[in-house]
Amino acid sequence: MSGRSDEQVAGLDRFNGRVLGVASMHGKERVIGPALMARLPLAGVVVIHELDTDKFGAFSGEVERGADPRTACLQKARHGAEVSGLDLVIASEGSFGPYPPAPFISCDEEWLALVDLRNATELVHRHVSLNTVFGGEECQSEGEVIAFATRMQFPEHHLVLKPAAAWRSGDRVIKGINDRDTLVRAARMLLAENGTIWVECDLRAMANPTRMRVIGDAAEAFAADLARCCPTCGLFNFAITQALWGLPCGQCGFPTRSTRAHLRECRGCGHRQEAERPDGKRTEDPQYCDLCNP
Ligand SMILES: [Zn+2]
Ligand SMILES: [Zn+2]
Repeated sequence: MSGRSDEQVAGLDRFNGRVLGVASMHGKERVIGPALMARLPLAGVVVIHELDTDKFGAFSGEVERGADPRTACLQKARHGAEVSGLDLVIASEGSFGPYPPAPFISCDEEWLALVDLRNATELVHRHVSLNTVFGGEECQSEGEVIAFATRMQFPEHHLVLKPAAAWRSGDRVIKGINDRDTLVRAARMLLAENGTIWVECDLRAMANPTRMRVIGDAAEAFAADLARCCPTCGLFNFAITQALWGLPCGQCGFPTRSTRAHLRECRGCGHRQEAERPDGKRTEDPQYCDLCNP
């Protein structure tokens, strides 16, 4: 965009030759770095190690997460900029729980936050995946621990052992267990101490390859959004802001409550554009139609 000052570069030129910091102690730069490098004209990616990301909340329960994941993610990115001195930083934050439209299925909700201090811009991206290896169980014997571990695709997916599901001060928590000998030894020790133990998936990205892949997918989707510029004013991150309902029934054509399309919206000029569903689906199964299947 000609005639604009450096601070107001609308398009991807704002990323020219800059170094992106990834605020992560858990190896997420391995998937986040390449995804952003592929789409944006960055000079490189560095990891910001010197932050205590666990102070923003730990999966294993020793640190309560204070803020909602979106806010926690932004705080982590800002904190990364502060400790590194970099003016372009990305952070991620995930949470696992029931999938709202179908609470008997669990989902992984991943947030990414990009903080650009030079342009006073903060952007977030949310990605939900039903692809999870996630769970926890109380066990009374070594055999139960092994059975649980097998279901959780151990040892590729690492485990955490602790005396009980809810963490209490002073409890021994053994994280990052990734081989059978260590698992058996830790289980025997805790069983001897407590009679019962809680076994759960270690959900830190480097300990859960399924989650790492979801973070990679999230980063690719975010990078694709960032790289898309508004057709009217040229501002970057012409991103999807909402889902539009009304996917027509395949039998009668009546609009169903399913998503028909997504809406991209420019946060600069307000320009809106409909985007097709990424799966290309044009009609809905009549079982979800209020006319065909009331
Ligand atoms: Zn625009
Ligand atoms: Zn119908």
